Amino acid sequence: MERIRTYRFCPVCGEALKLTHIKDGEPPRLVCAVCGFIFYLDPKVAACVIIEIENKIVLLKRAIEPSLGKWVIPGGYVDVGEPVTEAALRETWEEVRLRVAIGPLVGVYSYPEATAIVVVYKAFVQDGRMAPGDETLEVRLFALADIPWNQIAFKSTRDALQDYLRTHHPEAPPEPR
Ligand SMILES: [Zn+2]
Repeated sequence: MERIRTYRFCPVCGEALKLTHIKDGEPPRLVCAVCGFIFYLDPKVAACVIIEIENKIVLLKRAIEPSLGKWVIPGGYVDVGEPVTEAALRETWEEVRLRVAIGPLVGVYSYPEATAIVVVYKAFVQDGRMAPGDETLEVRLFALADIPWNQIAFKSTRDALQDYLRTHHPEAPPEPR
């Protein structure tokens, strides 16, 4: 999980930013003493999908840090101006070469100190042949009982898969002890 970053210089005028309390009850903000620009450290939004094919779940092995070599559901960051569902479709195509239709929301995942808010949908395959795409070492279908829980990249992936299994497959053990 990417950590919260901080910044030193005003992106508008290039002068130094200073941590300043501007409103009671809110955290200090990075404020430019020269032009007054307030640099809000906003979260990033990621869109992901859980794709099930004949009782198996599509997972991909990450080819980049963080968590290189670990397994995740397809997904990635939403671009500014891009609808969240469009980002989910685009990332799924880029990473696993499947064209999908977006289904119901599985959940929204956020954690203290984490930069990303992760939105997870169920998705249905429309077209394409599953294959490793960008930033992907390998794509594989995992039977519900074989999900590699100790090699899952992110807490959000793990939590989303467990929520999904609880809802859609109450018969399947969500996670072996
Ligand atoms: Zn400035």
